[in-house]
Amino acid sequence: MSANDRVAVITGASSGIGEATARALARDGMDVALLARRRDKIDALASELGGDGRRAIAIETDVTDRDSLLAAAQRVKDELGGADVLVNNAGQMLLAPFSSDQVQETRRMIEINLLGAMVATEVFLEQLRDGPSDLVNISSVAGRTARPGNSVYAATKWGMNGWSEALRQELAPEIRVSVIEPGAVATELTDHITDEEAKQGAEQMYQDVDAISPDEIAEIIAFTVGRPDGVAINEVLVRPRGQAF
Ligand code: NDP
Repeated sequence: MSANDRVAVITGASSGIGEATARALARDGMDVALLARRRDKIDALASELGGDGRRAIAIETDVTDRDSLLAAAQRVKDELGGADVLVNNAGQMLLAPFSSDQVQETRRMIEINLLGAMVATEVFLEQLRDGPSDLVNISSVAGRTARPGNSVYAATKWGMNGWSEALRQELAPEIRVSVIEPGAVATELTDHITDEEAKQGAEQMYQDVDAISPDEIAEIIAFTVGRPDGVAINEVLVRPRGQAF
């Protein structure tokens, strides 16, 4: 299937890796549906990417709200004819030592990073089953490693990896499932950390390893979904050259 016939849905398209991915897939000729909570950001991106025969729509969506995702799926079906590519990218990394202080953040990360991806996949599954289609799950190096202070974030990404591998086998060959596991990428991700020590540590580490641009991850995603139908890139682990763990 040529990229020009394809429709890509990207969650968390308002910044960072999601925004860069939307740009890369639109550049490759796909129609794009931009999902996120910050309406102003996705509206501006849709205006930029639409036109010249390419469609780009902004859909205000909270991945923790199934009704919101169901409404998004309906709009993608009605306005773009259904999804061929779903990029589960929305996520938060609220690093902190594990304790009762983090009860809400623990729940939030599981609801966004893991359950959000599962529910988004579930509501778009019927459209994707029309295949051949791509499901791309944005995991992390934290889905392969574990460190003090990232236990819950790592749990969401380890969970995503296990879920993705089972889905890869279950949904083949109609839906090609790929997991992308970035190391440090320069985005807003660390801005949302509320534990000051954890935040400073993460920011320092990103600086030390020379965090890579989200455009690099977007190019990997565009390459992955652009492979011929018979080829499946199952997993990509990518770090800045200087990042050890
Ligand atoms: P950003 O903070 O720039 O982007 C996160 C995106 O997720 C935003 O677009 C945000 O949009 C969206 N989002 C957050 N909560 C929700 C929600 N409830 N509903 C819908 N969208 C939501 O960070 P990144 O681009 O870095 O992160 C993207 C993904 O990449 C995440 O899954 C992250 O875990 C993963 N990752 C990032 C790495 C990095 O070093 N940056 C490394 C490894 C993985 P809005 O607030 O508008 O809703």
